[in-house]
Amino acid sequence: MIPLVDLQAQYARMKPELDAAVLAVMQRGDFILGSDVADFESEFASFCGAGQGIGCASGTDALQLACRALEIGPGDEVILPAFSFIATALGPLLAGAQPVLVDVDEHSGLLDPDQVVAAITPRTRALLPVHLYGQLANMPALRAISEKHDLALIEDAAQAHGAVSGDEAAGRAGTVACFSFYPGKNLGAYGDGGMLTTNDRSLAERLRRLRNYGSARKYHHQEVGLNSRLDSLQAAVLRVKLRRLAADNARRREIAARYDAALADLPLTLTRFGGIPVYHLYVVRSPNRDRLLATLNAAGIGAAIHYPKAIHQHQAFSAEPLGRGVFPQAERWARECLSLPVFPEMSDAQVDQVADALRAGLADAAA
Ligand SMILES: *Cc1c(COP(=O)(O)O)cnc(C)c1O
Repeated sequence: MIPLVDLQAQYARMKPELDAAVLAVMQRGDFILGSDVADFESEFASFCGAGQGIGCASGTDALQLACRALEIGPGDEVILPAFSFIATALGPLLAGAQPVLVDVDEHSGLLDPDQVVAAITPRTRALLPVHLYGQLANMPALRAISEKHDLALIEDAAQAHGAVSGDEAAGRAGTVACFSFYPGKNLGAYGDGGMLTTNDRSLAERLRRLRNYGSARKYHHQEVGLNSRLDSLQAAVLRVKLRRLAADNARRREIAARYDAALADLPLTLTRFGGIPVYHLYVVRSPNRDRLLATLNAAGIGAAIHYPKAIHQHQAFSAEPLGRGVFPQAERWARECLSLPVFPEMSDAQVDQVADALRAGLADAAA
């Protein structure tokens, strides 16, 4: 059996430090906005090369908080890719704004800057690119567009802790970046968690208020906020794991390179990852995706689909303007994408086993 990610193996690798970190929080009792939260915020911001880190309860909340702090709400539009996890669209929606979808690049699955300009209206307030699968979106092109049209640039960096490309890095490539620490992400908590990073001090201050009932001082509430904080217990776990993140991301790149070589001659479309990605997922595409997935799963390989539907195809949006578009590349990605197992504890032999199973599955599909 080869799982998609192996959280048990990860715990076993870091157990003494994780146990001690969690125990120390319980002994101190500073469960809400305790010292581990403040320490983790500054450590994670430094890791990204950003000035400020603001913990929150989830990646979805980070996206909502980013919109609220930028005063993006009812009557405003936010441009985002038609192919992503649904939370990318939920962030602006929960803030009261209208998500506007744009199709993705055929090769990378990333927001296509060439199609962004046509979607800009007088109501557009922000671009919200996603660093899908751990590869940086085309930030130079998107920044040029955002500057020209005076738009905020919000990164959905939920899959890209540590991703870089040229001079750009996830967490400091836009106005504000939104991270998730869902357990399966490259940096994952033992529950839900999220973080915003920014170089804008006043935006950071506003975010700190908004995540804490709109108050900077206890029982003095300047505005209507959320209860959306990162737990001290989660921050303690994340501090331990952050120390391994660079090495873990490097191991993910080794695994991806091994897949690239092993799969090069197969009738599959490999994702064209640019820059130095962190391979949150290793995704290939095939018109026979559903059969390949069944074959791999039957062989005990935890392959999966990220994602089976483009954003506009979800039932949740059937009555919404964003349910009415046609985005051929996003729909094709949704039909053909297949995620292979990739996690730092994965051995070379396991990579070869997945590649062999895929080769056999493709031979069956062709027969
Ligand atoms: C995981 C994820 C989110 C949401 O994060 P949560 O912490 O689960 O709320 C948002 N966007 C993308 C691209 C994600 O992968």
